[in-house]
Amino acid sequence: MMKRYGNKSGTMNPESEMHVYSEGAGDSKECADIEEQHNSKERTDHKGNIEGMKQRRNSLIFIASLSAVLIVLFMLQRKAVPDSGLVCVIQIDGEQVHTMELNRDGEYRAEDSDGHYNIVVVKDGTVRVTEADCANQICVQTGGIRNPGEVIACLPHRMIIYIEDGTN
Ligand SMILES: [Zn+2]
Repeated sequence: MMKRYGNKSGTMNPESEMHVYSEGAGDSKECADIEEQHNSKERTDHKGNIEGMKQRRNSLIFIASLSAVLIVLFMLQRKAVPDSGLVCVIQIDGEQVHTMELNRDGEYRAEDSDGHYNIVVVKDGTVRVTEADCANQICVQTGGIRNPGEVIACLPHRMIIYIEDGTN
């Protein structure tokens, strides 16, 4: 019985093993029956415990591999940006003052004729105005753009930023 118990559950704790040892010493049949019941119950509990741990471990493995896949996808997506050929065009008063490739991180300070400014930042294929001295801050609040046709406008500074496909 000892052997069977030991084989069935490889990872029992030392306490339960000792428990079996002392009870196994009894030699009356009645005692053995009770012991058998007792042990089988304990065995089931123990097994249930192991199953639970297994499930927990499996779900941990699942979550870990899922995040690994997501990270790889995320990196591939970021890597894909350099080949996009997209540029952002900065216009003030309808005149193109600057362009930046989206595949290269960079920063440009756009200044209008009155000396007002917008800080335009390209990072990870996204363009945004990070800072401006306009009153409404709409250009800053617009956030990032990264696709052709998307626009950031700063009307107080008569400035717009748009994205176009530079390969065309
Ligand atoms: Zn603005």
